[in-house]
Amino acid sequence: MKIFHLSAECYPIAKVGGLGDVVGALPKYLNQAGHQASVVLPFYDRKFTRENEFDVVFEASSRLGNRRYEWQVLKEKTDKLGFELFLIKVPGLLDRENVYSYPDETEQFVFFQIAFLDWLNWSQQTADIIHCHDHHSGLVPFLLQHSALYRRIHTIPTVFTIHNGQYHGAFGYDKLHYLPEVDERFIGLLDWRGGINPLASAVKCVWNYTTVSPSYLHELTIQSNGLEYLFWLERAKGLGIINGIDTQVWDPATDPMLPVNYNIKKVDTGKLANKTALCERFGLSVDKPLFTFIGRLVGEKGADLLPGIIRRTLDEHPDEVSFLILGSGEPEVETDLNHLKDQFAGRCNVFIGYDEGLAHQIYAGADFLLMPSRVEPCGLNQLYALRYGTVPIVRSTGGLKDTVIDFGTEEGYGITFNNALADEACHAVWRGLQLYKNTEHLQLLRKRMMTLDFSWDKSAQEYISLYESLNSKHI
Ligand code: ADP
Repeated sequence: MKIFHLSAECYPIAKVGGLGDVVGALPKYLNQAGHQASVVLPFYDRKFTRENEFDVVFEASSRLGNRRYEWQVLKEKTDKLGFELFLIKVPGLLDRENVYSYPDETEQFVFFQIAFLDWLNWSQQTADIIHCHDHHSGLVPFLLQHSALYRRIHTIPTVFTIHNGQYHGAFGYDKLHYLPEVDERFIGLLDWRGGINPLASAVKCVWNYTTVSPSYLHELTIQSNGLEYLFWLERAKGLGIINGIDTQVWDPATDPMLPVNYNIKKVDTGKLANKTALCERFGLSVDKPLFTFIGRLVGEKGADLLPGIIRRTLDEHPDEVSFLILGSGEPEVETDLNHLKDQFAGRCNVFIGYDEGLAHQIYAGADFLLMPSRVEPCGLNQLYALRYGTVPIVRSTGGLKDTVIDFGTEEGYGITFNNALADEACHAVWRGLQLYKNTEHLQLLRKRMMTLDFSWDKSAQEYISLYESLNSKHI
């Protein structure tokens, strides 16, 4: 099957979070299974686009409102990524350094989606599946079906994956004229509560939608994301497929970003060597259990709970634990954490920013990885932690619930707690501390974690089954 993945992120071209990891890996595994999966991404002005060569495969000029843009579709020249990469280059609109947070984000992603459909249509391409990811490509299922422009390709089955249902990409009807002419009778399919809502529209119009874990599929029908009712109404079209991890990129035995590589046989010495390097860099003691956090410092991730957890743990166990935090996000959380860094120097350190290499080094060098998430569609961090022999301490929600079993049960390996409350998280940290003191048990758990298989092989197969079922209905 020929499958186009349409996304705002893709590792290693442009990654902000888990969406990038998934779109950089799933197509590779689909291709290994004998399919022809490509990725279509906006052309951003980033290291990857500056350092690689591209062929221009398509050129056009289109209007968005009262502005006209010249645009191109570029194709990456080699096949080193494991999939064909197409970049939609729109000078003056899309070729910027950051992926998100520009004031004209609506214009950027609306143009991106229309350009993709125009290219597919005008260049006489075919596709068996169009797979859209998150709201940045959420208008495609609607446009494909309800704009006369795309009549030639309107029967191509669409799949929409929700990596994060908190972001909808909503905008007002004053921008309706950005969209190509659509049949007025169907405008309601764009709507949610009086605005154009690309996430809601995708859920309404797509052939099937997926969430990145089975638990999250259910949670979307009850959680306060604003679309609970819609998810409940459309639930027959939903499917939960847990994310995998790219085991070629995330392998402690070969990971080029680690100071020392290790495998399951050498997990204890390997982790100690990485922990030593990490503790030296951040002025922490290698003899204490190292509790870490990696991620966006936002409420969704429970990051606002971190200062309370750290302060209380260090007050109650002043000489027994260390903390290391990597992330950026809400300014109040960053400020709080920076205060703790000063107050507990030598026991708590914080790196505000995004650093891919450091993230890998933390997965390898940490003893524990904290994830007190309020919402976690899948969560990849816990999967990387498991692969690197680091015990995840997670709030049981979404994908965390589906992937982490508490070590208190027979086959368990992680530490779980039920509510996103500092009290419960502190108790979970305390359990980690007790586990750390029981070296033999910890060593056993490390080996157990590293034998778990969260590679993409199984989940990619589930996507293939979905594509095949849709393709058989495609006339
Ligand atoms: P999100 O909701 O942010 O997408 P996921 O758990 O799905 O969360 O994926 C997070 C990905 O982003 C992981 O690969 C993680 O290692 C990476 N990541 C998050 N924050 C940082 C950071 N500050 N520096 C480096 N990597 C980060």
